[in-house]
Amino acid sequence: MRIAIVGAGIVGVNVAHALLDEGHQVILIDALGWDGRPSNGNAGWIAHTDILPLASPKVWRNLPRWLLDPLGPLTVRPAYLPQIAPWLMRFFLAATPGRIEAGIEAIRAINAQALPAWQKRLDALGLQHHLREHGVLSVWRDRNAFLAEASFLERQRGYGMAVETLDPSDLKTLEPALQNVAAAVLYPDACHVSDPANLASVLFDLAIQRGAEHVSEDVIAIEAGDASVRLRTDNASRQIQADRVILSAGAWSRALAKQFGDGIPLDTERGYNATFAPGSLGLNRPVGYQGDGFVTTPLDTGDRVGGAVEFAGLEAAPNHRRTEAMVEKLKHFLPHFDVGQPARRWMGFRPSIPDSLPVIGTATRDERIVYAFGHGHYGLTQSAVTADMIAAIVVGRSGPIDLAPYSPQRFSR
Ligand SMILES: Cc1cc2nc3c(=O)[nH]c(=O)nc-3n(C[C@H](O)[C@H](O)[C@H](O)COP(=O)(O)OP(=O)(O)OC[C@H]3O[C@@H](n4cnc5c(N)ncnc54)[C@H](O)[C@@H]3O)c2cc1C
Repeated sequence: MRIAIVGAGIVGVNVAHALLDEGHQVILIDALGWDGRPSNGNAGWIAHTDILPLASPKVWRNLPRWLLDPLGPLTVRPAYLPQIAPWLMRFFLAATPGRIEAGIEAIRAINAQALPAWQKRLDALGLQHHLREHGVLSVWRDRNAFLAEASFLERQRGYGMAVETLDPSDLKTLEPALQNVAAAVLYPDACHVSDPANLASVLFDLAIQRGAEHVSEDVIAIEAGDASVRLRTDNASRQIQADRVILSAGAWSRALAKQFGDGIPLDTERGYNATFAPGSLGLNRPVGYQGDGFVTTPLDTGDRVGGAVEFAGLEAAPNHRRTEAMVEKLKHFLPHFDVGQPARRWMGFRPSIPDSLPVIGTATRDERIVYAFGHGHYGLTQSAVTADMIAAIVVGRSGPIDLAPYSPQRFSR
């Protein structure tokens, strides 16, 4: 089949490879060149051991403290409140015990396949060297907050995940630079990538080498014809015909999905980061600072401090006081870190759905349109397995995972 992929972020390029594997003709449509796409600036974690939806007790515990701090880990810009209100309403409704349980099961199902799918993809393309298998750490500044997580850590162990509680001397051996840590847990099987932007770019280049075509334009309309689907772009003289269309335009997917009868509650949780020279934090592996809403990652291209959630839509300018606030909090754990100016500050747009599950499945009005967006905080982690799911959907084969929890139609039920 001739298959057009709208959006060549980390999800789109993984989908391209999965479709090329099966002999399809692939056209990647994306003007690229825009730095705010999260596939370029994320923290680089393959975080398959994270299985909690955002609307979980962990967030509710911290929410009052976070909302009182205008530069805290989670904020809504007042001017954006009217637009985000319906999303927030769905978010609160996703927080019932039953829905949280269903959410955990659905995240666990997709995350269980996430790392094997990445390993398979990287092995097939000779890119194994992009995976850093040093584990990831969770640290707490407050022991009571750690104790409140005890049952969840037990639950992760029950799922067969390796979860090692560290005593202070273990932590000192692993990460001598970290200070003021009340409790720490190591996930030895979690890992990170060399640099997310480099990896996305290498995967894109290899897809082109494998025969994919690239159209460097924005899609503005998708029209269903009887024999094929037509895509119109911002180049008025272009019209692309395809047998199938994959919509993987991240946080920008909503308007195109609407053309096919799907009112998807997709919005963006904006995230921020600062990247310092490689090695400047003195940490050997990724660290999540629990309750503080940020992480650090020793990427090949620099040490990244990133996180935060800001609801302010796709248009508002970044507020890098948030980035500075995160770096300030890091000093609690790395008091000897001589901050200085980061090499780079960045803000990007997570494509977020209130129930923290991606949208993977066919459009309501036309089965030739297939959705692959809305991966929120875990689009890097879940992109390779999403691609396997999409390749199966395209030919009507049953895929690696039951699709029901990710259905685009779940919002109208
Ligand atoms: C601060 C931060 C840290 C994060 N850390 C992690 C992490 O450690 N691990 C993890 O798994 N995830 C992480 N994420 C989330 C992850 O980055 C995203 O979920 C993921 O990058 C989404 O990928 P995507 O391909 O769906 O979307 P995008 O990266 O947004 O790509 C979408 C593409 O679609 C294109 N596009 C948009 N509109 C059109 C159109 N009309 N026509 C053609 N093309 C179009 C855009 O140009 C873009 O290239 C993080 C996110 C942030 C913000």
